[in-house]
Amino acid sequence: MSQSVYNVQGREQDLCLGESLAATKQVGIVGGGVNGICTAIACARAGHQVTCFERGEPFAETSSRSSRMLHGGIRYLEHGHFGLVREALIERDEWLTRSPEYTRVERFFFPIYDDSPRGKWLLTAGTKLYQWLAGRYSVGPSSLHSRAEALELNPALNPDGLKGAVSYCDVVMDDQGVASDLLTEAQQLGVSIKTQTQVRAVTESGNIELESGESEAFDTIVNAAGPWASQVLNASNLTSNYEIAYVQGSHLMLDLVLENPLVFQSNADQRIIFAIPFSDETLLGTTEAMIDIEQPIECSQEEEDYLLTIASGQLSPRVGPLKVHSRFAGVRPIYKHKSEHPKNMSKASRDSVIEQRGKLISVFGGKWTSASHLGDKVCGLV
Ligand SMILES: Cc1cc2nc3c(=O)[nH]c(=O)nc-3n(C[C@H](O)[C@H](O)[C@H](O)COP(=O)(O)OP(=O)(O)OC[C@H]3O[C@@H](n4cnc5c(N)ncnc54)[C@H](O)[C@@H]3O)c2cc1C
Repeated sequence: MSQSVYNVQGREQDLCLGESLAATKQVGIVGGGVNGICTAIACARAGHQVTCFERGEPFAETSSRSSRMLHGGIRYLEHGHFGLVREALIERDEWLTRSPEYTRVERFFFPIYDDSPRGKWLLTAGTKLYQWLAGRYSVGPSSLHSRAEALELNPALNPDGLKGAVSYCDVVMDDQGVASDLLTEAQQLGVSIKTQTQVRAVTESGNIELESGESEAFDTIVNAAGPWASQVLNASNLTSNYEIAYVQGSHLMLDLVLENPLVFQSNADQRIIFAIPFSDETLLGTTEAMIDIEQPIECSQEEEDYLLTIASGQLSPRVGPLKVHSRFAGVRPIYKHKSEHPKNMSKASRDSVIEQRGKLISVFGGKWTSASHLGDKVCGLV
């Protein structure tokens, strides 16, 4: 996945990975989500001494609220983000090797109905392009299925108006399992993870001030506080070249057993949502709702209704009313440079940006899939 790296003047810098190996540095990381921990691992591997400050528990915020896919992001193809998708497909492959026990390849089915916004030719072209972009990192071919075959492979589908299906392969993870692999690796590399430790402020000269009043000096600070990265800067009276918009995404866990992951198209807004089986449950999501980061992050009734309406229309009445076992929400920090025009947040890239000011490096945005490469790139700046 591509990251842009800007110094305070906004000039793109060359990333020379490994050049920072010359001397051991003290690195302080704010945030123990996937971006913070992957950065900690990369820095510790490069020989630096790393302390990670997490106000709660590691992987307890956004990194435990994802759709649990390690993917290129098939829907980003429609917005023309081909380079981004290609890079993420390569990163996807690395997770299969890194965490084989907690990752698996699945075949995702797009059912196609009489009134579906995208038909079989468009979906076939899109899934073939996705497979082609993966190149030698492809995890399986895409396929076109007749109505009969679609129903045989996915008996939970609503047969009324079903014309067939298009399928493609992607990777699904047990996010808690991958997180535990990463935490073990970080600990083995000597990373000190201070949990229940809130950072009050950071400085561009390398100081971290804790809520407890203590203060520690570092050669480099990495602000990897996820959706709260701007809050950390604000609390420190620091500015940034980036403005952040907060887009909530909610998921439902359903008491539903599916044979394969399904990708439902919404007739109302043309979005796609995923229904992914995890043992005897199904993860259904996600939504996009602009929110204020100061408000509680929770799935609204409107979001729940939205998801259930789309899914129940494309599932067989034989499945019965969908039962919601639990619900959760997370926030995507979508950034834009202050000089850019406003973005359509649904079409905005899920890319990340790294901003460096003095001894402080801030990370905005990103994906689970891209976190390891992001960590390497941040490490190259230490
Ligand atoms: C709905 C949704 C679905 C997604 N689905 C996918 C997907 O399927 N695949 C994919 O690749 N990506 C997905 N993503 C993106 C992915 O989940 C995120 O990019 C990733 O989890 C962000 O990790 P992070 O470390 O930046 O943030 P977080 O996981 O939020 O970690 C930041 C940490 O910083 C801590 N923190 C904040 N402030 C302070 C402070 N002052 N002091 C100390 N600690 C602090 C927080 O407690 C938190 O633990 C999804 C995101 C959302 C919202």
